[in-house]
Amino acid sequence: MQRGWLSVSCQKKKSVFASIFICILLVLLTLFPAAALAGEKPVKNVIFLMTDGTAATHIALARWYKGSPLALDGILTGAVRTYSAESVITDSAPAATAFATGHKTNSQFLGVLPATTTVPGVPPIDAELKYKPVATVLEGARLMGKAVGLVATSNIQHASPAAFSAHTPYRDKFNIIAKQQVYEGIDVVFGAGKKYLVPREDGGMRADGLNLIATLRAGGYAFVETREAMQALTKGKAWGLFAADSLQNDMDRRTLAPNEPSLAEMTKKAIELLSQNKKGFFLFVEASKVDWASHGNEPMGVISDLLAYDEAVRVALEFAKQDGNTLVLACADHGNGGMSIGSKEYKNYDKLAYDRLMGPLKKADMTGEGVAQLIGDNRSDFNIRLVILQHYGIEDLTDAEVAKIKAAGKGRALASVIGPMLSARSAIGWIYTGHTGEDVFLYAYGPKRPTGLIENTQIAEITAKALGFDLGAVDRELFVPADQAFKALGAVAAYDDSDASRPVLVVRKGLLTILLPVDTNEMIVGKTTFKLPGLTVYIPQTKKAYVPRAAVELAKAAGF
Ligand SMILES: [Zn+2]
Repeated sequence: MQRGWLSVSCQKKKSVFASIFICILLVLLTLFPAAALAGEKPVKNVIFLMTDGTAATHIALARWYKGSPLALDGILTGAVRTYSAESVITDSAPAATAFATGHKTNSQFLGVLPATTTVPGVPPIDAELKYKPVATVLEGARLMGKAVGLVATSNIQHASPAAFSAHTPYRDKFNIIAKQQVYEGIDVVFGAGKKYLVPREDGGMRADGLNLIATLRAGGYAFVETREAMQALTKGKAWGLFAADSLQNDMDRRTLAPNEPSLAEMTKKAIELLSQNKKGFFLFVEASKVDWASHGNEPMGVISDLLAYDEAVRVALEFAKQDGNTLVLACADHGNGGMSIGSKEYKNYDKLAYDRLMGPLKKADMTGEGVAQLIGDNRSDFNIRLVILQHYGIEDLTDAEVAKIKAAGKGRALASVIGPMLSARSAIGWIYTGHTGEDVFLYAYGPKRPTGLIENTQIAEITAKALGFDLGAVDRELFVPADQAFKALGAVAAYDDSDASRPVLVVRKGLLTILLPVDTNEMIVGKTTFKLPGLTVYIPQTKKAYVPRAAVELAKAAGF
């Protein structure tokens, strides 16, 4: 597989300067293995599969529904503590940042250090380091020359995959995250969220006019949008975004989106493409929507996407067993909803027959989210009762329930109205509609697999150590405070957003100027564009920019 980030692309005619830069970059690249750990033989590949918003009950319920052991059951090794730097109940962004970078951080923060720390055991943060971007294990693996990939069922810009591939204190700024991801040099990306790569004028969400799909294609990526096209990929770098926003729940795919691949299919194809890299690979896989179903107290979404996740785990394990040098890690980022088997409505807990619990759930052939789409705007009594009976298995919907469904919003809002109706007919309880703070199961297979109780931050440490690099060294390579570094060269670095759609870091010394377009890995010297090994990131809160060390070295070479 081609190493995109290593390439020095000279978009204009190559000058003598360009040749000199290429030589210097090559020297820089040979220096990087300084970050590699000496000693123990590293593991070749790591696959980390995360299920969002999944506590022990979710897993027990999915197993009961399936009626046989889960792939996960065979690799249970411990538990994971989930709290963030500011809350004993974590938000998804700091949870995934912990997994990706080894640092506990604040709600909404992706790939950056915290601004406040309040939870006991989380060290206070130095003023200088607040909001500082920190390297992810994906970036570390990439610098090692390994292939890297992201797979999710939400939009790929959503918190968990974004924490591995973007650096911003705003998890909802999907346009910024999308831009950073496109310039991250990720070899394989499968999921949804196409609209954040497409300009508004072409039906997307981007106000900056950028067509990032065109950027990907120009960078040598295949861009696919259907399951069939994904299956046809045999080698090379690829992005596959199979929906504008998020993928359908697994159970609803056949009816609502037959062109979308399953999580297991995406995982299998990602492994097939990434494993062609002789140096190995890192792959992050997320079942994103167990969390969304839990926010809506909707049991079928939980079961559907948790079983789809388990199939993806099975695919990863099959590869790992055959390969023999792959570490598979799996866990949730936090619980959600306080789901229980047993509810306030069902008092005879020691007489809960299997059919009483599972009977109502087995009658549903779609999830609440899918049923909500089928009901859509047709809220006649007849249509509501028919769709709920046919696809959600509820035969005895009361008039009051029909009225509630009529009054509900669309999509997930409607799913969160019917979810509790099905839960009550089973014996499933929910405490509320938010995240919860318990420990979650840790699953692991392969060499150097962790056991016992660990912190969520240790997932990053374990991954980096297994692959044989030092995250701190990667950090020093990728996120240098631009102000200080260029000042030391007698230059001035200034953030310029006079064109709000193309913010850029301008570095000047005398008559020399270098441009570092923010949220990209590009560095423009004269008419030549160089690809850096990492992104230029700007933090609005601190007004600080961070650049890869290579940018500073190149500036020196350019006469700074
Ligand atoms: Zn989450």
